[in-house]
Amino acid sequence: MSQSRYKGGHNGEDCCAFCGAKRSDVALMFQGSGGVNICNNCVERGYQMLSESELVEGAKSKKGDKFNNMELMKPAEIKAFLDQYVVGQEDAKRYLSVAVYNHYKRILSRKKGGKQSKDEEVEIDKSNIVLVGPTGTGKTLMARTIARVLNVPFTIVDATVLTEAGYVGEDVESILTRLLQAADYNVEAAERGIVFIDEIDKIARKSDNPSITRDVSGEGVQQALLKILEDAVVNVPPQGGRKHPDQKFIQVNTKDILFICGGAFDGIEKKIAQRLNTRAIGFGVQGAMQIDRENLMKYIMPQDLKSFGLIPELVGRLPVLTYMHPLSRETLRMILTEPKNAIIKQYKQLLAMDDVKLSFDEQVLDYIVDKAVEYKLGARGLRSICEAIMMDAMYDVPSSGKRSFNVTLTYAKKRVEGAKFLELKQVS
Ligand code: ADP
Repeated sequence: MSQSRYKGGHNGEDCCAFCGAKRSDVALMFQGSGGVNICNNCVERGYQMLSESELVEGAKSKKGDKFNNMELMKPAEIKAFLDQYVVGQEDAKRYLSVAVYNHYKRILSRKKGGKQSKDEEVEIDKSNIVLVGPTGTGKTLMARTIARVLNVPFTIVDATVLTEAGYVGEDVESILTRLLQAADYNVEAAERGIVFIDEIDKIARKSDNPSITRDVSGEGVQQALLKILEDAVVNVPPQGGRKHPDQKFIQVNTKDILFICGGAFDGIEKKIAQRLNTRAIGFGVQGAMQIDRENLMKYIMPQDLKSFGLIPELVGRLPVLTYMHPLSRETLRMILTEPKNAIIKQYKQLLAMDDVKLSFDEQVLDYIVDKAVEYKLGARGLRSICEAIMMDAMYDVPSSGKRSFNVTLTYAKKRVEGAKFLELKQVS
């Protein structure tokens, strides 16, 4: 091939061998051996074609690029990150940080191959987690924040919609479909993702006697969950829905997927109390420990989950058990203003985008907390109450030409006591 073939411009200027563009017309011209040139536009086009056809590994993984840098942080660092978003819940944060750290250490050590020989190698068990605590205390928030800190795919599923295969409802495989979707179908990323299964308590066996009748809604689903909670290669329908003979499946290995289950377990305190009482009698009054009757949840043990109606095999696959405290008035007040994305900060930012400085009188914040407590809406209620207060201002202020807006107690009370919020209270 003669070099002169690719010199088509004035004064023998270099040209792209693919599209014929001159060097002066493109941003970059790459020169190969033998004087062959290719311009940046053609390189880009070629790369795009490869990505679309998924011919190269690099192009394939580009799809799930955002999950390629899994970060391994120390437990204290994980907790510090959680502290920025979740108020209080110290015990749960510590448990979760350690469990997650060990889980990912386990994955990374296997990936690196480890220094030990096969015989010396200790297989580290998976540390799936159960978070027990009243609704609205931050269980989902905690799991979501963990996924964020680790930069892994994350999905939330509601245990109540799951059914045993063959019944109306979603198969447990749908959990993995969702995780795949969250990972942009990057199977490798999905295989080290986190799944939060909410309302795990709702699939508890209804009766304490397992042998009499088979409880489809509860035990059947628990059995089905067992399969994916441990080490299994599951055929996952990529678009979800029922299994269909013609559908192509994606194989997902669940070995390194971390499952965090959450549930309110209403009434479990009774089971804890029963267990503690039996023990107190057994050891005699003197030897018995001082029991904090106000806060029985802190004594929760795996056997209490069994008494509640989770099958022993499932409890065995959820080795890390921790609890969330009910939110006190002080905690609610902090949730309003302290976390990195606190509700009040969000409103301030929204109005700052219109160049309006938003402020709240201190009494307003106390009032919001009072209402959340009064309506028994917990932390979830804080947001609804703030919405009720801020709705009119969010509508009027941006076009009012004002540069500042202060929310007073009178203003807030008027909005909350208005009809709209009363409707909201009835719905919830
Ligand atoms: P759960 O999963 O326990 O029912 P969520 O995590 O969904 O509760 O919490 C509901 C909302 O309440 C969250 O969006 C969050 O804004 C807020 N919230 C609850 N608990 C906390 C907490 N401890 N710290 C900060 N925000 C919280």
